[in-house]
This record gives sequence, C-alpha cells and structure tokens, in this order.
Amino acid sequence: MGEERILEPMFEKMRRTELREIQLKRLKEVVHRVYECVPFYYSKMKELNVSPDDIRSIEDVRKLPFTTKNDLRNNYPFKLSAVPLSEIVEIHASSGTTGTPTLGYYTENDLKNWGDLVGRAFKMAGVGKSDVVQITASLGMFSGGFAFYHGARRVGATIVPASAGYSRRQLQYMIDFGTTTVCAITSYMLRLAEIAKEMNIDPISNTSVRKGLLGSEAWSQQMWKRVCETWNMDAYDAYGLTELNGGPGVAADCQFHDGLHVWEDHYIVEVVDPNSGEHCELEEKGELVFTTLCKEAMPLLRYRTRDVSFLYASENCDCGRTLRRIGRIQGRTDDMIKVSGVNFWPSLIEEALLKHPEVGPEYQIIVDRVSEVDRLTIYIETKTIINEEEKKKVLSQTLRDELRELLLFTPNIEVVDPGQLPRVEVGKAKRVIDKRVSG
Ligand SMILES: [Zn+2]
Repeated sequence: MGEERILEPMFEKMRRTELREIQLKRLKEVVHRVYECVPFYYSKMKELNVSPDDIRSIEDVRKLPFTTKNDLRNNYPFKLSAVPLSEIVEIHASSGTTGTPTLGYYTENDLKNWGDLVGRAFKMAGVGKSDVVQITASLGMFSGGFAFYHGARRVGATIVPASAGYSRRQLQYMIDFGTTTVCAITSYMLRLAEIAKEMNIDPISNTSVRKGLLGSEAWSQQMWKRVCETWNMDAYDAYGLTELNGGPGVAADCQFHDGLHVWEDHYIVEVVDPNSGEHCELEEKGELVFTTLCKEAMPLLRYRTRDVSFLYASENCDCGRTLRRIGRIQGRTDDMIKVSGVNFWPSLIEEALLKHPEVGPEYQIIVDRVSEVDRLTIYIETKTIINEEEKKKVLSQTLRDELRELLLFTPNIEVVDPGQLPRVEVGKAKRVIDKRVSG
C-alpha cells in the first residue's frame, strides 16, 4: 500500500471481507514473530498448548494468551522487545503514578505508523495544511504529546508544540499564532476557559480555536457538550495507550461523533468480561482488549487495557467508514467506585451534574466510611456566584434526588462557589478521593 493511500479515507472504507483478509494475514505474522522472538510469549503459548499454526481465522485470536499491565511491568524494560535494541528509536512511558511504569517503544517503522494513525484522526476531524495545531499535552515520556506531534506532521499542519502547563502562555499562543485546533486532555479545555476569563479573553470571539482532538480521560456526553459550547468547538475523541501505539493512535471519532472507529488494519479489538475474560456480546460493556498487528518493537497479544467500553453491532457509520466502532470510554475497571454495594463510574455522576447549566465543570467525589457505613459526598461548584443560600439548597436537593434515582442510595451534595475546588494544571483531573482504608 502506497504512503498516500494510508491517509485516504477510502482505505478506511474498504469492504469488511477485504479488511478481514488483511487482519488475518497480519495476525498470523505477528503470532509467528512473537513466538520466535519474545520468550515471554513463547512460554505463555506453550502453557496454553497453542502454536502459531493454530491461528487459522481471526476468531482464533481467542486461543492466544492475554497480556496484562503486570506482564509489562514484570518484563520491564525491554524483555517484550521483538527486535534488537539497536532497532528501537523512541521510548515512551505511561503516566502511572506509582511503581514501575509501563513502556511503549518504537522502531522507525512503528513511528511512521504511529504518525499515520494519528494523522488519520486529524484528517477525520478535517484538520490539514491550513490549520494551526497547538499541542497542550506533555511532550515528554507521556506518549500523548508526541502522538499529536507525529500525527500533525503527517497532515502538514502548522504545529505549536506548547506542551503541558503554562495556561496563560497557552492562551497567548492561541491568539498570537491563530491556533485553530487544540490537542488536550479533555478537562484541560475547561480549565483553559477559566483562565481565559481571568485574562478577559473570550474563548469564542477572541480565539480561532474551533476544533479539538481530546481524550486521555473518561468523559461523559455532557462534558463533551460543555467543551463544545464553551469554545464553540467541534470536539473529537481520540483514544490510545502508550503500550499499544502511543497516545491517541488506536481509535478516533468521525464528524458524526457516534462511537470511535478503531484502526482495525492495525489492531484486532475484543471486549471481554473483566473478571472471567469471557467474550462479551456486541453492545455489551466490558474491558477493551487489543492485539497489535503491525508493531515491530513491542507487539502485544490480547492486551488487557482495563478501559471499559463496548463494540457497536453496526458496521456502517454515516461517514461511510467500515471500521468497527467502540463507545466512548466509560471508565477503567480499577476506577469503578463501590459504595454500599453499588458499583458505578464517576462519569455517571458527571453526566448527571453537568446536565444543569448552573453547575460548573469541576467536581470532586469523596468516599469515606462513617460507623462502618460508606458515605459518598459530591462537591460541586456553581458556574457563577449564587449568593442566596436558598438557591444552593434547591440545587443540592435537586441533585440529591436525581442521583438517588441513579445510584439507589443518597449521596451528600455540597455546593460551593466557583474556584473553590482544586484544579489540575498538568495531567488528568483527579475527581475521586477514596478515604476508606482498604482491606
Ligand atoms: Zn464514522
């Protein structure tokens, strides 16, 4: 396939039979390669009594061993490499807060593919040569910033590699350079809007920002709406993991914003029950699992992402792409909150809160235990200062009632003035604090 064709939408619209042929050919190749070059996979496959020749159809992927985050840590740093170290040209590490980081490493060809895949996401969002792309994700070990960099290079945009933090300067760059497209962690767009207000900058009339490639945290439909309205922007969701192919190089949404197209010529996607590892039905929520088909430096079989989503049953999108879609990430298996026997993700609460226009986008969920009983307190800010205590009472009562319907228990709601909750300048917003002693 020629270089240009990779970025052709037609490639993303190929017949599924043709796509599956490509997938199967690549799957066979990658399984042979890891069996021969990565001792970890050789012994895992021996354990399961499966050999590369047992892979005769795409469904046979289910015979292969899973790879977990712990497997990556146990093989830190380079034991999962399928190429000599001299072939590795770039290394990235997950933004994990504790312990051994999980790595992603790349050969020259991996880097090229990475740029192509993120380039597709830009192209799908209609971003090209005439755009100024400002990268507010960190350009460092975290793969998000570089993913956007490689992708924006691929579509020929003008790049402003601002990296993370320095919000006032970010806004100044936007104005000075005429930034049209921002790449960011989702919640940061709302933080930037707050700082803009402090600087008397109106995100809509004073900037040319009209598109965003956002992601890296679970976000609700309401959060998406908020971001779009605040910036008068079309916000695109881009999904990926350092371990797979750096940052947002795995799936992205098209102009219809109805699910994210997975780059299936590079990945086989599965959804499994996070506990049993059994396959979920289409449309059924579970853990996303990816097998890389093209990665040279660090191919992964059935990588358990811990991200929860589902596969669309429909293979047709209004954009004409035939690539399978996944739903927006609902949360991570390990971010699920369990209170009084009820399991849920913070995004459920976010969705309910942000339906109210008077509620600001920052919120914090505190879980603790009082006299052996779990207690959930949600701190929210009003969007503007509401002086009357009465109004706050009405708001908190309304939210309490609505959330009781969703959660089946009654949370505490604390309404505070704008600017009272802690802000995150770099990285992902910290929404949940669980004060319960584990065990
Ligand atoms: Zn589409």
